[in-house]
Amino acid sequence: MSAPKETMQFQAETRQLLDLMIHSIYSNKEIFLRELISNASDAIDKLRFEAIGRPDLLPAGEELAIKIEADEEAGTLTISDNGIGMSREEVISHIGTIAKSGTREMIQKMKEAKSEGAVNELIGQFGVGFYSSFIVADKVTLKTTRAGSNETVIWESTGDGTYSIGAADAAPRGTVITLHLKPADPENGLDDFRKTWHLERIIKRYSDFISYPIYLKIETETEEGEGDSKKKVKKTEYKIVNSMKPIWLRAKSDVKDEEYNEFYKHISHDWNEPLKHLLYRAEGRIEYTALLYIPKKAPWDFFYQSYKSGLQLYVKRVMVVEAFEDLLPRYLRFVKGVVDSSDLPLNISRELLQQDRQIVAIRKGLTAKLLSFFQDMLNKERAVYLEFYREFGNALKEGVNSDFENR
Ligand code: ADP
Ligand code: MG
Repeated sequence: MSAPKETMQFQAETRQLLDLMIHSIYSNKEIFLRELISNASDAIDKLRFEAIGRPDLLPAGEELAIKIEADEEAGTLTISDNGIGMSREEVISHIGTIAKSGTREMIQKMKEAKSEGAVNELIGQFGVGFYSSFIVADKVTLKTTRAGSNETVIWESTGDGTYSIGAADAAPRGTVITLHLKPADPENGLDDFRKTWHLERIIKRYSDFISYPIYLKIETETEEGEGDSKKKVKKTEYKIVNSMKPIWLRAKSDVKDEEYNEFYKHISHDWNEPLKHLLYRAEGRIEYTALLYIPKKAPWDFFYQSYKSGLQLYVKRVMVVEAFEDLLPRYLRFVKGVVDSSDLPLNISRELLQQDRQIVAIRKGLTAKLLSFFQDMLNKERAVYLEFYREFGNALKEGVNSDFENR
C-alpha cells in the first residue's frame, strides 16, 4: 500500500543552514543528542496536551518514554519516543523548512561571522535542533506515526540539499530517528557515539532533568557453564539513565551551574548559556517555585511577532501550559523559566487561568522578585548588569509606561 517515495528539495535557507552546521561546528559535537532528546521530550509533552481533550490518543497505562539504542555493527544510533509523532505534512513543514521570520538575515550574518565562536553563537541563538544530527551523521532516517493516525511516514536525507519522503509499514505512534554515524574521529571532537559509556555520560550531562525516562540499551556478554560447555551469553537490558527529578525542586546546593544552564537550553531552545538564573520559592498564602533565567543575548527574533514569550507553568510537577504569557508583565517577556505551583487546579483552561487570583498573585510576586534581583545585580555586579541592560534595557523601559505600581 506504500505510496512511491518522493525526493524533495530543502528550502534554500535550510540548505544553507545545514551546510553551516556541517562545516562550522568543530567542538562540542555531542550536543546533537541533547537536541534530539529535547525534541522527544517536547513531543511527549505535546501528546499529553492533546490527550487531555482526546483521551483515546493515550491508552491508559502506557509508559511515555525515550529510548536510545546504538548498533555497533551497523554504525547507527537510534533515538525513539512514543510522543505525538508527525503527519506527512508536518514532516515537510517542520523538518524540511524553517518557518521563522528573519531567517535569511540570520544566515547572512552567520556566513559573515569570522570565528567558529561567532558562528556557534549565532547558530545557537537560532536554535536549529534537529539539523544538529548532521554534525555526527552522514545520513538520517526519521520514521514517524502521528497520534490518531495509522499512516507511518519515512523521511531520509544525507543533508546535502534533498530529502526523500514516503510511506512505510505501519509502526506504533511516535518517532524513531536513526543516525548513520560518521566514522569516529576523537581528535576532531567526534567521539564514538556507538559506545554506551559515551552515551550514558552525555545523557547524564545534558538531559538528566528530562521528566520522562530515558532508556539506554546496554549489551553485556557473560560466560556461562563450565569447561567444554562454557559459552558466551549476550544479554540486553534497558537502563534508565536520567534521574528525572525536576531541577527546580532540588536543593540549590545539589545542582551545579552547568545543570541549571542545560535546563535553560532545553526550555528556551537557545544554545548559549544564560546570563543569570534565579531560584525562588514563595511560601505562605500561596506557594510556588520559580526557576527563572535571563538570557545573555536578546533572542534574534525578540522584536518579531513570532517571538514566543511566556513561562512554562507546572501544577504539582505536571506541565499544564508550555508558554504562559500572563505570569509576567509584557516588559519582562525576555525572562525564561518555569513556575511550579501546588495550589492550582490541574485541569483548567487558559482563559480561566488568566483570571485566576493565584496567577495574579504569582505574577505580582515574580515581578517584585525580578525587579529586586535586577537592583541587586546593579549594586553588586555592575558589569553584568550593564551587559543585561544593553540587551534588555529597551524592554525594561516599556515598564515605565505600563507598570505604575513598580515605576
Ligand atoms: P525546535 O525544537 O526549536 O522547534 P527543532 O529543529 O529541534 O526545532 O525541531 C523542529 C520541529 O520538528 C519541532 O518543533 C517539532 O515540531 C518537530 N519534531 C522534531 N523532532 C520531533 C519528534 N521527535 N517528534 C515529533 N515532532 C518532532
Ligand atoms: Mg528542538
